[in-house]
Amino acid sequence: MAFYEGPVQALIDELGRLPGVGPKSAQRIAFYLLKAPPEDAKRLAASIVDAKDRVSWCRRCYNLAEGDLCNFCRDERRDPHIVCVVEEPRDIVAIERTNEFRGRYHVLQGAISPIEGVGPEQLRVKELLGRIADGEITEVILATNPNIEGEATAMYLARLLKPVGSKVTRIASGLPVGGDLEYADEVTLGRALEGRREVDA
Ligand SMILES: [Zn+2]
Repeated sequence: MAFYEGPVQALIDELGRLPGVGPKSAQRIAFYLLKAPPEDAKRLAASIVDAKDRVSWCRRCYNLAEGDLCNFCRDERRDPHIVCVVEEPRDIVAIERTNEFRGRYHVLQGAISPIEGVGPEQLRVKELLGRIADGEITEVILATNPNIEGEATAMYLARLLKPVGSKVTRIASGLPVGGDLEYADEVTLGRALEGRREVDA
């Protein structure tokens, strides 16, 4: 038995698929939207459609990009020899806030997690190897999150990249363990970047 009218239930179901939104929150958001002025709800719907239409992945670093390359890859003033490897586009924002990094990025789009069935094949690892093989990169900074998945991913990449020849470094510890880069303050993250060490894998 359905408790709500079809379209209401459909909205709740769709909202409930979003990350971090449980059934109760989904209901709350749905009722908020149904009560909101039509133009507010339509603007939200339009911004989802617009972002989906206009934004995709940078063909070089897999950051979000409006067009072929993201704004970091398009910026000629950035050092193409140093690449900072992160899990998600939001981690780039965290690193940019430190003002300590002027190189380029590579977004893995996740981290290795056997529990969630995510292996290296599901990440942009092949693409990273491809960029290193082009020979322009002299240092790869592993800036995956300081949690179990992030550390496992960093170790995996360090072992994989060492034989390829470029210097591989890991951001220093001192970040809150188990946390995400996005929750670290700029000063702490800036220090972690500055204090990065070569990984012996
Ligand atoms: Zn890019």
